[in-house]
Amino acid sequence: MRKLYQKHTPSIRVPLMVFMILLCMVPLVIQGRVLAGSSKQNQVDRRIIDLQNQCQIISNKMTRTGYLSGTVVDNAAIDAELSMLADIFNGRILIVNSGFKIIKDTFSLSEGKVCISEETIRCFLGEATQKYNTEKHYFLLAIPITENVQTMESGSTPKTAGVMLVTASTESMTELEERLLDRAELFQLTAFLAIAIAAVIVLQASFRPFDAIVGSINRVAEGNLDEDIEEMAFSETKRISGSLNHMLENIKTMEQSRQEFVSNVSHELKTPITSIRVLADSLMGMDHVPEELYKEFMTDISDEIDRESKIIDDLLTLVRMDKESPEMSFQSANVNSLVEMVLKRLRPIARKRNIEVIFESMREVTADIDEVKLSLAINNLVENAIKYNKEDGWVRVTLDADHKFFYLKVADSGVGIPEEFKDRVFERFYRVDKARSRETGGTGLGLAITKNVILLHHGAVRVESKEGEGTIFLVRIPLIYIS
Ligand code: ADP
Repeated sequence: MRKLYQKHTPSIRVPLMVFMILLCMVPLVIQGRVLAGSSKQNQVDRRIIDLQNQCQIISNKMTRTGYLSGTVVDNAAIDAELSMLADIFNGRILIVNSGFKIIKDTFSLSEGKVCISEETIRCFLGEATQKYNTEKHYFLLAIPITENVQTMESGSTPKTAGVMLVTASTESMTELEERLLDRAELFQLTAFLAIAIAAVIVLQASFRPFDAIVGSINRVAEGNLDEDIEEMAFSETKRISGSLNHMLENIKTMEQSRQEFVSNVSHELKTPITSIRVLADSLMGMDHVPEELYKEFMTDISDEIDRESKIIDDLLTLVRMDKESPEMSFQSANVNSLVEMVLKRLRPIARKRNIEVIFESMREVTADIDEVKLSLAINNLVENAIKYNKEDGWVRVTLDADHKFFYLKVADSGVGIPEEFKDRVFERFYRVDKARSRETGGTGLGLAITKNVILLHHGAVRVESKEGEGTIFLVRIPLIYIS
């Protein structure tokens, strides 16, 4: 328990809040990135198609005008178009002829130089290529320039006579993507704050009923047992309140029975003492007491002392058993001999009132029992059957067993127990007829002890009775004790 307080225990609200924020923010961030990326890709694709179309037009013009063969005297118009196109697309255009020589460069830097790049070669082989370099933010297009060649066999056939190499920057699109991302981030930050505030409000509202329950429990713990724990906001809090109230009811009943027990104990212990005091006072108040009277009073005082000591003994037995007895010692033992022994001890008392005690043993029973405690329980049942019997009555004890339990039945022909008191006879100090019980030396604890012993054996006991006809106590105990 102390360990729980030593370590800082985080509130469940923290992981719940993190979870709620993540649940909302992760899709938002992903969506922002995907949108910005795809919008950039769209722009780039459109730009490539535009440039390809424009280049194709110029390439066709070059074919028509014989730009590559140099038959046209003035290429200025096409050169101007190329420069304009390069400017518009913020790029550079190279025209490479069939000898891999650069015959036009819109940057005028590489004219006359040789260009044997992979794209040029592929393009001469009839494969128009396009390449997009995302890291350096540019794309490259290789567009073939065809010319008609006169052959002997098939007349005029188109042939790749040159390549138009176009590079264009995508910097502006990257900037657009970054702008979009910046905006998305701003939106995400706003969303984050809104979600965090909403999460705090929702969590506070959700946990308020639980906090209220904790408050009620604390007040109960401070001793206010009459406080009703009632929190109906959610079905969960309703269930918790219900269970706590149920527990509280049990505690109250236990507390009430504890108080009753204490007052019963005080009362029971006081009764013999009061009698002793009355007897002693009477003796002291008399002069020249005859010896017989003196002896009679002293015998009464001695009886009361015996009674007091029996109550104390029974109480101690009960209290010891209440502590889920470490003193219990279960051993495999013969139950038949145990019953025989108890009956042997009690027969002399029965004989005084001419009560017949019969033992019917259906089979030999061996079970895991605490012999001392169980013999006390059986003793109480048989002793009661004799005590609350009629003159010339009978007591029949029957022992039987199946593969799981053994069954002990104690039946008598006695006064019986009225229906309404049947369930109460196992309560501590409960006696149907107080005067009779006192007369027979009863403490009202015998059946409470018996029930405790049987429960400690994981068994059960019940009573059947008809007033004036007799009583049957039925005991069932498992043959094997499983702790
Ligand atoms: P006690 O010491 O008074 O006998 P118990 O706990 O043994 O206390 O019994 C409780 C009460 O149950 C008795 O006072 C008696 O009224 C009733 N009782 C118990 N056993 C029998 C019985 N066999 N027949 C009739 N009444 C019984």
